[in-house]
Amino acid sequence: MRVFNFSAGPATMPEEVLRRAADEMLDWQGSGMSVMEMSHRGAEFESIHDEALADLRDLMHVPRSYRILFLHGGGIGANAIVPMNLLGDKQTADFVVTGSWSHKSFAEAQKYCTAHVAANGKTGHGFTHVPPLSEWHLSNDPAYIHLCTNETIDGVEMFATPDVGDTPLVADLSSHILSRPMDVTRYGVLYAGAQKNIGIAGLTIMIVREDLFDRALSICPSAFEWKAIAANNSMYNTPPTYAIYIAGLVFKWVRKQGGLDAIERRNVEKAKLLYDAIDSSSLYINRVERQSRSRMNVPFFLADESRNESFLAGANARGLLQLKDHKSVGGMRASLYNALPRKGVDALVEFMRDFEQKRA
Ligand code: PMP
Repeated sequence: MRVFNFSAGPATMPEEVLRRAADEMLDWQGSGMSVMEMSHRGAEFESIHDEALADLRDLMHVPRSYRILFLHGGGIGANAIVPMNLLGDKQTADFVVTGSWSHKSFAEAQKYCTAHVAANGKTGHGFTHVPPLSEWHLSNDPAYIHLCTNETIDGVEMFATPDVGDTPLVADLSSHILSRPMDVTRYGVLYAGAQKNIGIAGLTIMIVREDLFDRALSICPSAFEWKAIAANNSMYNTPPTYAIYIAGLVFKWVRKQGGLDAIERRNVEKAKLLYDAIDSSSLYINRVERQSRSRMNVPFFLADESRNESFLAGANARGLLQLKDHKSVGGMRASLYNALPRKGVDALVEFMRDFEQKRA
């Protein structure tokens, strides 16, 4: 029996994709090999890679002036890879801190430059909003401005892209890539680990505007230098081949769902169901301002925290798994990625209502 898996990542996958991968496990399309056994330089894998790239480009409307790179390193790796590729001769990069992940990006960048916090959304209740552009204090000549457009731990999502002029915007999309349409042209660099909305951990997707390729520091490891990776079509070293194959299957699945507009409509509906249940109860609390509430990661607390364990045990018994929040925050978190079916949210909401009523 498959459970409803609310994990923040690695996370639930479309069942259709898992079944297709299982069918093709021993013999990919008559090749007599599993994808994981293929040379990354062979024609078979090349076709898998090129199709995945083309499908992602199409889904996100990535213009030709941007390159899509498939790398190793995850989101945390990107925190170092971005400054090493983008600082050029500048000394400073700006960071908008909206939660734990953007703070991590800021802290790592300090190894390479003067990292400047342009705005910090932390309040007495933690991170609950995205500071508006009017409150940002940008430095004089930053190499780039870094954002995390969906804070996985804090449940804060940035819906509007700020207009910052010519300074490249860099965004960590790890936990909401492909959850809705985004205007790629507003950004210099977008990156995301694959293990939430795309597939297998170990693959990082980077979308980079090509005119930013000449800014790498000499200390940047060759395996992470965007220009070299692009020149080698993401095969500078052996890429995470199986993860790219699975990502490709997920891109096809997203297209079959109707693309990002249709996916967004479903995500809006799913998130509304859960936030409505939280807001209409006296037991569950989410403190994030309404306009900044993440559609992908919904953290919530029980007003009576002594009931946390029994909440989680009750949820587990109904096949609702991985609802415990990140250890740094406490409480609960339900991640509602693309592949989590609406039925899963219905089941969660029903359980939450039953659990609350039992107390009354
Ligand atoms: N950024 C965000 C927004 C994340 O959610 C995560 C992982 N939860 C990371 C970065 C770090 O990713 P990784 O573990 O792949 O390095």
